[in-house]
Amino acid sequence: MTIAPILPASPGKLPLSDYKPLGNAELSERIEAGRKKLGKRLLILGHHYQQDEVIEHADLRGDSLQLSQLAASSSECRTIVFCGVHFMAETADILANRPEKLAERNGRRVDVILPDMAAGCSMADMAAIRQVEDAWDQLGEVIDTERLIPVTYINSAASLKAFCGRHGGIVCTSSNAAAVLRWAFERGERVFFFPDQHLGRNTALKMDITNEQMPVWDPYAEDMGGNSAQAIQASKVVLWKGHCSVHQMFRPEHVAQFRQKIPGIKILVHPECPQEVNDIADYSGSTSSILKTVEQSPAGTKWAIGTELHLVNRIKKENPEQEVHFLSPVVCMCATMYRIDLAHLAWVIENLLEGVVVNEIMVDEETAKQSLIALERMLEVK
Ligand code: SF4
Repeated sequence: MTIAPILPASPGKLPLSDYKPLGNAELSERIEAGRKKLGKRLLILGHHYQQDEVIEHADLRGDSLQLSQLAASSSECRTIVFCGVHFMAETADILANRPEKLAERNGRRVDVILPDMAAGCSMADMAAIRQVEDAWDQLGEVIDTERLIPVTYINSAASLKAFCGRHGGIVCTSSNAAAVLRWAFERGERVFFFPDQHLGRNTALKMDITNEQMPVWDPYAEDMGGNSAQAIQASKVVLWKGHCSVHQMFRPEHVAQFRQKIPGIKILVHPECPQEVNDIADYSGSTSSILKTVEQSPAGTKWAIGTELHLVNRIKKENPEQEVHFLSPVVCMCATMYRIDLAHLAWVIENLLEGVVVNEIMVDEETAKQSLIALERMLEVK
């Protein structure tokens, strides 16, 4: 697995070390005081997987795309503090600072801050641009890449989104993956799907594509991603060998244990979970569909939910009339997102009050331009 280098944090005028020893009550007070002073110029975004202490200070809560779109539509905001992970802040930068938005603001950029530069995504880190480019060249030796459509999950670096923009490809989310695959098959013969093999596989299986038609590309294999030329030629979807370290922890035995212990329980999982779990769950869907499914169910419904721990705990708290369990006996939380705590949030906000932007995420112009092509294709898919 390639682990992206941890980007150095900006030193800032006020050092982070001053904030680490402070207690949550003081940090919360200082964050709120900072928010008050900065008013609508500051927008704090909290991803669904974020810990409650941080979510309490967020102006908006949602998944990565919802948050980026909402932030981009704000006319007063000068700074976005993205309490999520690195690829999310990149997407917010691309959407909030796209040419028409810059023109509306007379060229003024919105600064995008990631409170902790080490908040990466293990899945996004499993596909590096040079590996994807190498795979593309190798695939070109045995199939026509003009008829191969690259699709990247939004959980990927901007360089991969730009690759898709350059090669007639597109971005997808867990909500629109099926519609995006249909879009891709209207334009090509095959799809190259990265970095999450599970989302790609679970989505394609529902479209009657078989596992035999979905070879897995291992970027560390000697040749052709570990596949024969025939397997690639017979493929419909070439899946990248990547996964989410959180969602891959859910296992079929967890489903069996809950069904035995609590008769009538419904199993609800995210499509980043492996096929063996998706196949036997009662429902599989994106974060927004998980939230909607629980909210719209009658009181007394029993759930075991297979997605990130902080989100499941929040669903439990916000739906007390239902019985909500976490599907795994093991703690499955997004450890990188968890790095963003109140100390980091207070640190970036108080630096802003001093006129200093720390930990800014800025995607270079060319990458942003090409990524936007792939993102806009996705936004047009119905
Ligand atoms: S939950 Fe998984 S895919 Fe989502 S940000 Fe964390 S590591 Fe990445």
